Amino acid sequence: VAVLRDVTTMRRLERMRQDFVANVSHELRTPISVVSANSETLLDGALSDVEFAPKLIKAVHRNAERLTLIVNDLLDLSRLEAGSYSLLSGRVQVARIAERVVQSLQEKADAKGSKVEIDIDASLAVMTDEAALFQVLVNYLENAIKYTPKGSTITLIASRRKNKIRTEVRDNGPGIPTEYRNRIFERFFRIDPGRSREMGGTGLGLAIVKHLVEAMGGRVGVQEVQPTGCSFWLDLPRA
Ligand code: ADP
Repeated sequence: VAVLRDVTTMRRLERMRQDFVANVSHELRTPISVVSANSETLLDGALSDVEFAPKLIKAVHRNAERLTLIVNDLLDLSRLEAGSYSLLSGRVQVARIAERVVQSLQEKADAKGSKVEIDIDASLAVMTDEAALFQVLVNYLENAIKYTPKGSTITLIASRRKNKIRTEVRDNGPGIPTEYRNRIFERFFRIDPGRSREMGGTGLGLAIVKHLVEAMGGRVGVQEVQPTGCSFWLDLPRA
Protein backbone atom coordinates (compact mmCIF):
# COMPACT_ATOMS: atom_id res chain seq x y z
CA VAL A 1 0.00 0.00 0.00
CA ALA A 2 1.42 3.36 -0.96
CA VAL A 3 0.17 6.79 0.05
CA LEU A 4 1.09 9.62 -2.27
CA ARG A 5 0.64 13.19 -1.22
CA ASP A 6 1.22 16.20 -3.46
CA VAL A 7 3.15 18.72 -1.39
CA THR A 8 3.77 21.23 -4.18
CA THR A 9 1.37 23.84 -2.78
CA MET A 10 2.67 23.37 0.77
CA ARG A 11 6.26 23.81 -0.43
CA ARG A 12 5.33 26.89 -2.46
CA LEU A 13 3.56 28.48 0.51
CA GLU A 14 6.49 27.71 2.77
CA ARG A 15 8.90 29.29 0.25
CA MET A 16 6.64 32.36 0.03
CA ARG A 17 6.64 32.67 3.82
CA GLN A 18 10.44 32.38 3.96
CA ASP A 19 10.86 34.96 1.18
CA PHE A 20 8.51 37.30 2.97
CA VAL A 21 10.42 37.08 6.26
CA ALA A 22 13.71 37.61 4.40
CA ASN A 23 12.26 40.64 2.58
CA VAL A 24 10.89 42.19 5.76
CA SER A 25 14.24 41.74 7.53
CA HIS A 26 16.06 43.26 4.59
CA GLU A 27 13.75 46.29 4.48
CA LEU A 28 14.06 46.90 8.22
CA ARG A 29 17.82 46.44 8.41
CA THR A 30 18.89 49.70 6.74
CA PRO A 31 16.76 52.12 8.80
CA ILE A 32 17.56 50.24 12.00
CA SER A 33 21.29 50.39 11.35
CA VAL A 34 21.14 54.15 10.69
CA VAL A 35 19.25 54.73 13.96
CA SER A 36 21.67 52.54 15.84
CA ALA A 37 24.92 53.89 14.30
CA ASN A 38 23.89 57.55 14.58
CA SER A 39 22.77 57.30 18.19
CA GLU A 40 26.01 55.54 19.06
CA THR A 41 28.04 58.32 17.40
CA LEU A 42 26.02 60.91 19.34
CA LEU A 43 26.62 59.10 22.63
CA ASP A 44 30.31 58.83 21.83
CA GLY A 45 30.64 62.61 21.84
CA ALA A 46 29.08 63.96 18.64
CA LEU A 47 26.22 65.37 20.73
CA SER A 48 28.32 68.41 21.60
CA ASP A 49 29.28 69.01 17.96
CA VAL A 50 26.80 71.74 17.03
CA GLU A 51 27.21 71.22 13.31
CA PHE A 52 27.31 67.45 13.09
CA ALA A 53 24.73 66.53 15.77
CA PRO A 54 21.63 67.97 14.01
CA LYS A 55 22.55 66.05 10.83
CA LEU A 56 22.78 62.78 12.77
CA ILE A 57 19.52 63.45 14.59
CA LYS A 58 17.72 64.35 11.36
CA ALA A 59 18.81 61.02 9.84
CA VAL A 60 17.59 59.18 12.96
CA HIS A 61 14.22 60.93 12.65
CA ARG A 62 13.93 60.22 8.91
CA ASN A 63 14.71 56.55 9.40
CA ALA A 64 12.40 56.20 12.39
CA GLU A 65 9.61 57.58 10.17
CA ARG A 66 10.52 55.08 7.47
CA LEU A 67 10.26 52.26 10.02
CA THR A 68 6.80 53.51 10.99
CA LEU A 69 5.73 53.49 7.33
CA ILE A 70 6.95 49.93 6.81
CA VAL A 71 5.38 48.64 10.03
CA ASN A 72 2.04 50.36 9.27
CA ASP A 73 1.96 48.86 5.77
CA LEU A 74 2.82 45.42 7.16
CA LEU A 75 0.03 45.70 9.72
CA ASP A 76 -2.47 46.73 7.03
CA LEU A 77 -1.39 43.81 4.90
CA SER A 78 -1.64 41.28 7.71
CA ARG A 79 -5.09 42.59 8.73
CA LEU A 80 -6.25 42.27 5.13
CA GLU A 81 -4.85 38.76 4.82
CA ALA A 82 -6.47 37.70 8.06
CA GLY A 83 -9.79 39.08 6.81
CA SER A 84 -10.09 41.32 9.86
CA TYR A 85 -10.19 44.59 7.91
CA SER A 86 -13.73 45.85 8.20
CA LEU A 87 -15.12 47.29 5.01
CA LEU A 88 -18.44 49.02 4.51
CA SER A 89 -20.45 49.00 1.33
CA GLY A 90 -22.39 51.90 -0.08
CA ARG A 91 -23.06 53.84 -3.27
CA VAL A 92 -20.03 55.92 -4.20
CA GLN A 93 -19.88 58.36 -7.10
CA VAL A 94 -16.53 57.74 -8.80
CA ALA A 95 -16.04 61.32 -10.07
CA ARG A 96 -16.48 62.75 -6.57
CA ILE A 97 -13.87 60.42 -5.05
CA ALA A 98 -11.51 61.11 -7.96
CA GLU A 99 -11.75 64.84 -7.23
CA ARG A 100 -10.87 64.30 -3.56
CA VAL A 101 -7.96 62.05 -4.54
CA VAL A 102 -6.55 64.63 -6.96
CA GLN A 103 -6.98 67.40 -4.40
CA SER A 104 -5.08 65.45 -1.78
CA LEU A 105 -2.10 65.00 -4.10
CA GLN A 106 -2.25 68.28 -6.01
CA GLU A 107 0.74 69.71 -4.16
CA LYS A 108 2.91 66.70 -5.04
CA ALA A 109 1.82 66.87 -8.68
CA ASP A 110 2.51 70.62 -8.83
CA ALA A 111 5.95 70.12 -7.27
CA LYS A 112 6.78 67.83 -10.21
CA GLY A 113 5.08 69.99 -12.80
CA SER A 114 2.77 67.07 -13.63
CA LYS A 115 -0.73 67.65 -14.92
CA VAL A 116 -3.53 65.58 -13.41
CA GLU A 117 -6.85 65.46 -15.23
CA ILE A 118 -10.17 63.80 -14.46
CA ASP A 119 -12.40 62.53 -17.23
CA ILE A 120 -15.22 60.71 -15.44
CA ASP A 121 -18.93 60.85 -16.13
CA ALA A 122 -20.90 62.03 -13.09
CA SER A 123 -23.39 59.18 -13.56
CA LEU A 124 -20.86 56.43 -12.80
CA ALA A 125 -21.20 54.97 -9.30
CA VAL A 126 -19.88 51.85 -7.57
CA MET A 127 -20.93 49.80 -4.54
CA THR A 128 -17.95 49.91 -2.27
CA ASP A 129 -16.20 51.17 0.83
CA GLU A 130 -15.52 54.84 0.18
CA ALA A 131 -12.40 55.11 2.34
CA ALA A 132 -10.88 51.99 0.77
CA LEU A 133 -11.54 53.24 -2.77
CA PHE A 134 -9.95 56.56 -1.82
CA GLN A 135 -6.88 54.72 -0.45
CA VAL A 136 -6.50 52.65 -3.64
CA LEU A 137 -6.77 55.63 -5.98
CA VAL A 138 -4.36 57.67 -3.84
CA ASN A 139 -1.88 54.84 -4.15
CA TYR A 140 -2.22 54.62 -7.93
CA LEU A 141 -2.02 58.37 -8.39
CA GLU A 142 0.90 58.80 -5.98
CA ASN A 143 2.83 56.14 -7.91
CA ALA A 144 1.98 57.77 -11.22
CA ILE A 145 3.37 61.07 -9.93
CA LYS A 146 6.44 59.39 -8.41
CA TYR A 147 7.44 57.11 -11.27
CA THR A 148 6.90 59.39 -14.26
CA PRO A 149 9.25 62.16 -15.36
CA LYS A 150 8.63 65.83 -14.59
CA GLY A 151 5.83 67.41 -16.57
CA SER A 152 3.93 64.17 -17.24
CA THR A 153 0.21 63.97 -17.82
CA ILE A 154 -1.89 61.69 -15.65
CA THR A 155 -5.57 61.04 -16.28
CA LEU A 156 -8.21 59.45 -14.07
CA ILE A 157 -10.90 57.84 -16.15
CA ALA A 158 -13.82 55.47 -15.57
CA SER A 159 -15.95 53.37 -17.87
CA ARG A 160 -18.85 50.94 -17.61
CA ARG A 161 -18.20 47.24 -18.29
CA LYS A 162 -21.39 45.20 -17.98
CA ASN A 163 -22.14 45.16 -14.24
CA LYS A 164 -18.73 46.60 -13.29
CA ILE A 165 -17.13 50.01 -13.39
CA ARG A 166 -13.47 50.20 -14.36
CA THR A 167 -11.57 53.12 -12.84
CA GLU A 168 -8.11 53.81 -14.25
CA VAL A 169 -5.13 55.99 -13.49
CA ARG A 170 -3.28 56.47 -16.77
CA ASP A 171 0.12 58.05 -17.18
CA ASN A 172 2.55 58.70 -20.00
CA GLY A 173 5.68 57.68 -18.08
CA PRO A 174 8.02 54.73 -18.68
CA GLY A 175 5.29 52.14 -18.00
CA ILE A 176 5.75 48.61 -16.64
CA PRO A 177 7.83 46.26 -18.84
CA THR A 178 5.81 43.24 -20.01
CA GLU A 179 7.91 40.75 -18.01
CA TYR A 180 7.06 42.49 -14.71
CA ARG A 181 3.38 43.08 -15.32
CA ASN A 182 2.12 40.01 -13.49
CA ARG A 183 4.52 40.50 -10.57
CA ILE A 184 3.94 44.18 -9.92
CA PHE A 185 1.23 43.55 -7.29
CA GLU A 186 3.49 41.20 -5.27
CA ARG A 187 4.74 42.24 -1.85
CA PHE A 188 8.08 44.10 -2.05
CA PHE A 189 8.26 43.83 -5.84
CA ARG A 190 9.80 46.95 -7.38
CA ILE A 191 11.30 47.64 -10.78
CA ASP A 192 14.08 49.78 -9.29
CA PRO A 193 14.36 49.05 -5.54
CA GLY A 194 16.94 51.81 -4.91
CA ARG A 195 14.81 54.49 -6.53
CA SER A 196 11.65 53.33 -4.76
CA ARG A 197 13.32 53.47 -1.31
CA GLU A 198 14.86 56.85 -2.09
CA MET A 199 11.37 58.18 -2.75
CA GLY A 200 10.04 56.78 0.51
CA GLY A 201 8.38 53.70 -1.01
CA THR A 202 7.94 50.52 1.02
CA GLY A 203 7.23 48.23 -1.94
CA LEU A 204 3.98 47.21 -0.26
CA GLY A 205 1.57 49.77 -1.73
CA LEU A 206 0.33 47.72 -4.67
CA ALA A 207 0.13 44.51 -2.61
CA ILE A 208 -2.15 46.35 -0.18
CA VAL A 209 -4.18 47.71 -3.10
CA LYS A 210 -4.70 44.21 -4.51
CA HIS A 211 -5.82 42.76 -1.18
CA LEU A 212 -8.05 45.72 -0.47
CA VAL A 213 -9.78 45.59 -3.86
CA GLU A 214 -10.25 41.82 -3.61
CA ALA A 215 -11.78 42.31 -0.16
CA MET A 216 -14.12 44.83 -1.84
CA GLY A 217 -15.18 42.16 -4.36
CA GLY A 218 -13.19 43.67 -7.21
CA ARG A 219 -10.14 43.09 -9.37
CA VAL A 220 -6.98 45.02 -10.17
CA GLY A 221 -4.53 45.07 -13.05
CA VAL A 222 -2.14 47.06 -15.14
CA GLN A 223 -1.94 47.48 -18.89
CA GLU A 224 0.26 49.40 -21.25
CA VAL A 225 -0.71 52.68 -22.80
CA GLN A 226 0.40 53.69 -26.31
CA PRO A 227 2.82 55.26 -27.19
CA THR A 228 4.26 55.15 -23.63
CA GLY A 229 2.97 54.73 -20.12
CA CYS A 230 0.66 52.48 -18.20
CA SER A 231 -2.81 52.31 -16.81
CA PHE A 232 -3.42 50.89 -13.33
CA TRP A 233 -7.08 49.89 -13.10
CA LEU A 234 -9.61 48.46 -10.69
CA ASP A 235 -13.00 46.94 -11.43
CA LEU A 236 -15.77 47.28 -8.83
CA PRO A 237 -19.44 46.31 -8.86
CA ARG A 238 -21.65 48.97 -10.41
CA ALA A 239 -24.12 50.63 -8.06
P1 ADP B 1 6.60 51.50 -3.82
O1 ADP B 1 6.05 52.63 -4.62
O2 ADP B 1 6.53 51.72 -2.37
O3 ADP B 1 7.94 51.02 -4.31
P2 ADP B 1 4.36 49.94 -4.87
O4 ADP B 1 3.90 48.58 -4.49
O5 ADP B 1 3.38 51.07 -4.75
O6 ADP B 1 5.66 50.20 -4.03
O7 ADP B 1 4.87 49.88 -6.38
C1 ADP B 1 5.75 48.84 -6.77
C2 ADP B 1 6.61 49.25 -7.93
O8 ADP B 1 5.83 49.41 -9.11
C3 ADP B 1 7.32 50.59 -7.77
O9 ADP B 1 8.52 50.45 -7.03
C4 ADP B 1 7.60 50.98 -9.22
O10 ADP B 1 8.78 50.32 -9.66
C5 ADP B 1 6.43 50.36 -9.98
N1 ADP B 1 5.37 51.33 -10.36
C6 ADP B 1 4.20 51.57 -9.72
N2 ADP B 1 3.45 52.47 -10.37
C7 ADP B 1 4.14 52.82 -11.46
C8 ADP B 1 3.88 53.72 -12.58
N3 ADP B 1 2.78 54.43 -12.67
N4 ADP B 1 4.85 53.80 -13.55
C9 ADP B 1 5.98 53.06 -13.49
N5 ADP B 1 6.28 52.21 -12.47
C10 ADP B 1 5.38 52.09 -11.48
